[in-house]
Amino acid sequence: MDLDGKIARVKDLIDKREQLDAELYELLGGTARERRIPKCSICNEPGHRASTCPSKAADAT
Ligand SMILES: [Zn+2]
Repeated sequence: MDLDGKIARVKDLIDKREQLDAELYELLGGTARERRIPKCSICNEPGHRASTCPSKAADAT
């Protein structure tokens, strides 16, 4: 297999992997994505951590 063939194969496999990831994500209902989003332990809202919680800042004053 020459270099062009390898590059084409790599792109093909990456395309397949992205399709797989998208399908798995759909099947699992987005749990993989939720894991990456920080979830606040104070107000239970996603998108920030307890250390940056706006509720905590409001409490401190
Ligand atoms: Zn919070």
